Amino acid sequence: MEAAPREVRAVVIGGGQAGLATGYYLRRSGLTPGRDFVILDAATTVGGAWARMWPTLRTFSPTQHSSLPGWMMPPWTGDGGYPPAAHVVDYLTRYEERYDLDVRRSVSVESVSRGEKLVVHTSDGDWLADHIISATGTWSRPFVPTYPGSFVGRQLHTAGYRRAADFAGERVLIVGGGNSAAQILAEVSQVADTTWVTLRPPRFLPDDVDGRALFEIATRRHRVRQLGEPDTGGVAGLGDIVMVDSVRDARDRDVLHARRTFARLIEHGVRWTDGGESTFDTIVWCTGFRPALSHLSRLGLRGPDGLIPTHGTQAINEPRLHLIGYGDWTGPASATLIGAGRAARDLVAGL
Ligand code: FAD
Repeated sequence: MEAAPREVRAVVIGGGQAGLATGYYLRRSGLTPGRDFVILDAATTVGGAWARMWPTLRTFSPTQHSSLPGWMMPPWTGDGGYPPAAHVVDYLTRYEERYDLDVRRSVSVESVSRGEKLVVHTSDGDWLADHIISATGTWSRPFVPTYPGSFVGRQLHTAGYRRAADFAGERVLIVGGGNSAAQILAEVSQVADTTWVTLRPPRFLPDDVDGRALFEIATRRHRVRQLGEPDTGGVAGLGDIVMVDSVRDARDRDVLHARRTFARLIEHGVRWTDGGESTFDTIVWCTGFRPALSHLSRLGLRGPDGLIPTHGTQAINEPRLHLIGYGDWTGPASATLIGAGRAARDLVAGL
């Protein structure tokens, strides 16, 4: 016999930073974790995407600007103050314990359907909820652009990168113009012959500017858009690659040169737009991620761009559903440690 659905005020889907920040504000609003709301997470371990990132990854802001609400990330003194992923995982682990957020792990949300309440169908039975907060991140949906032709060598996405030593002595093509590409290029170029490809010239932040500036710009953009004023534009004028130690070192070694993208893949490399060809052993696609929303597909909410239209974090066509952490469309800088807190505060205030 099937177990009866359990009933709560809110179900948070995903126990990464966005889910934890939401849990923090739900608890502060007087709800008891485990009784009034639950956080469900498919993974067996703590830390969301941070637990899967490569060990040498550095955050793009120091700890005081990479913190969730309530409790600051403990300082990291090495590497110019930019902590590695393991430090973030440790912080999230302790954060979850500190606020007793009672995350239920190894519970995968398979779908959500509508009834008098929303019904959350999971690998461990159903939940009925007045509100659902989807915080499933992007890590499980790596994006690789389509190019004509095919390449028989090794290909991997940022999500599969672990260490530079795996590429020793190879010819490696690194695709992408963001922080992941720059940091991976910086490491791999120490042991391999690298070529870097970006859609447009890479934009490096000044050495004394880091992820804080990106956060402030996202905040400003959000404010002017809310006021209906003309968009002030993104970070284009400033840059978007943070000059962490490894990237500065790569600049000193003169490897931060990017060429524009290629026309097609060929068996052992790529053909450039001028008809020339280059041979590679491996292509590393640092080409980003897409939001993990398939568990919501039964609700039929996606727009033509594949995203769910929202006002703030609230789904316009299903006001009982909120989305957090996926990017600026779910709150300014909500896909960052510091931005997730503010998005969560506004979300919970609106329930
Ligand atoms: P996640 O951390 O991905 O957590 C989502 C959780 O949802 C996971 O635990 C997953 O198991 C669970 N889940 C997914 N689907 C389901 C389902 N159907 N049912 C149940 N559970 C599910 N941000 C910064 O602030 N500073 C940085 O320096 C920084 N560097 C970054 C570097 C890289 C390479 C990347 C990719 C991102 C970086 N970010 C950084 C951005 C951001 O902080 C992370 O992507 C962050 O992990 C997103 O948190 P999240 O909680 O939204 O999602």
